[in-house]
Amino acid sequence: MGAVTGSGRPAVAAGRDHAADPLGRITAMIDAGFLAEMGWDPDRLVLAPPPGHRLVVRPVCRVEGCSNTAPGRRGICAACGRRLSAAGLADDQAELVGRARRPRRLPVLCLVARCGRERASGPAALCRTHAGQRDALGVTTAEFVVRSDVVALAPNGPCAVAACPRQRRHPDGLYCDAHQQRLRAARRQDPRLDEAHFRRTEPAVGVGGQVSLRGLAPLVVAQVLYGLQQRCRLERVQTKEADLRCVCDNLRRQQVTTVDDHVLGGATTSGSSVLPTRWSPMPAEPSPPPRPRSPATNGTWRCSGSGTVSFDAISQRWLRESAKRWAADDLPRRRIRPGRRTGGGLAVRHHVNCVAMLSEALRARADRGENPGALGRTDMEAFLNRLAYLESAGRISGDARLRAAREVRAVLGRIRAMGLTRPGQVAARLGEDFAVGRDDVPDTPEPAEAGRALPPEVMRQLCARLGDISSPEMGCATELAIATGRRPEEICDLPYDCLVRDDDGGAVLVFDNHKANRLGRRLPISEATPR
Ligand SMILES: [Zn+2]
Ligand SMILES: [Zn+2]
Ligand SMILES: [Zn+2]
Repeated sequence: MGAVTGSGRPAVAAGRDHAADPLGRITAMIDAGFLAEMGWDPDRLVLAPPPGHRLVVRPVCRVEGCSNTAPGRRGICAACGRRLSAAGLADDQAELVGRARRPRRLPVLCLVARCGRERASGPAALCRTHAGQRDALGVTTAEFVVRSDVVALAPNGPCAVAACPRQRRHPDGLYCDAHQQRLRAARRQDPRLDEAHFRRTEPAVGVGGQVSLRGLAPLVVAQVLYGLQQRCRLERVQTKEADLRCVCDNLRRQQVTTVDDHVLGGATTSGSSVLPTRWSPMPAEPSPPPRPRSPATNGTWRCSGSGTVSFDAISQRWLRESAKRWAADDLPRRRIRPGRRTGGGLAVRHHVNCVAMLSEALRARADRGENPGALGRTDMEAFLNRLAYLESAGRISGDARLRAAREVRAVLGRIRAMGLTRPGQVAARLGEDFAVGRDDVPDTPEPAEAGRALPPEVMRQLCARLGDISSPEMGCATELAIATGRRPEEICDLPYDCLVRDDDGGAVLVFDNHKANRLGRRLPISEATPR
């Protein structure tokens, strides 16, 4: 079980030109042990991660022995729910309903010995033809399967929907039962439906515990497997099976030849989080030469925990591709913490938005900033001046200007460190002086002006209503907080002897700054405050 696909792709020979063979390069990096762990079937191109896997997760029914998917708070699958209600049991008596039947591994074949056809349905236990014969004879399934005149049948051909691992419904039909019905429904919606397109793009029938990679380009199959391996082995982050299925369905719908062309966003996405965050090969790998691509395929990425990152606003190809590489490199560093919504995706989105501001400034050039080799110090100054102008015009805050300069500096620095400005790379010949220097980043404003303090209007109202506070302790504490700007917990912790006289006779408040772990701080206060 070493093969990514069972289609007889030759093993990748050592020393082969990897840059010219991205499929071979990625295939060589996928571990056979990982594929086995994920239940990868290289012939059917279906992933079947074991129920209860720590990193590739789905909500599994809590009834003993059941491995069906059980979405929703109930935690019980539809089949077990039916068994429960038939037995007159409530959900909290699930342990009384008895073990579920053995987990089914699809395809489940007809019960007739050596019959190669799939069952018409789970309870039918027989293929469509044999079930018909049984019904015509009026015998039970047990009686039918032991009859000497029952003949095993050759399997039907595969369903014509590329994604579907099922057999056709009839030997002379084209589709499985479910896709026959879906096609009929799609035709009702659109009488001029392109059936060939339907076959290429329609998702497989959703089966809990299985993700079909059929109908994807061979490179995309390898990229998805590699991305999943990186998530599980390197980043050790969880992947929801439903999200993985959704990503695969999107890739198929878009008929991309590489995941780099994948566009996420809009109505086609569901699922709250993940796309493998590191599609691109290991950082040490030489990057493939840039491929020509149309500006229409800009791309939006979905990143862990916090929605999408859009690169669409970056018009220059070199800058957009560089920003994507930067994000692919940066995202895995921002780990998901269990049970917490991570700000990692948010930070990446903010950086990308700042790069989009740079992109906008570069569009003022005659070449619209498309040629990295032509860019230099003048262009960077134009960008920094624009930031200063936006702040002076009140269009962005001082903090936003500071962050924009800082984040563009960080991204450009990383792009250089990743070697993307080397000859042949996506940002080749980018001007050495096209950078944000340390001196270009405006000074950090004093905390007082950084917007952490209450707005003056609120402060005015608070001071005016101080007398309304009925509790003298609260009134005193509030007044102290206003006069000294200390945190509430610091005020509450003030010892009885907090007020001392300094050597020069001025009043001093002694307090512990727990947040910065500085104890016994002395803050001079006005004579009017101590009472
Ligand atoms: Zn169940
Ligand atoms: Zn059969
Ligand atoms: Zn089908």
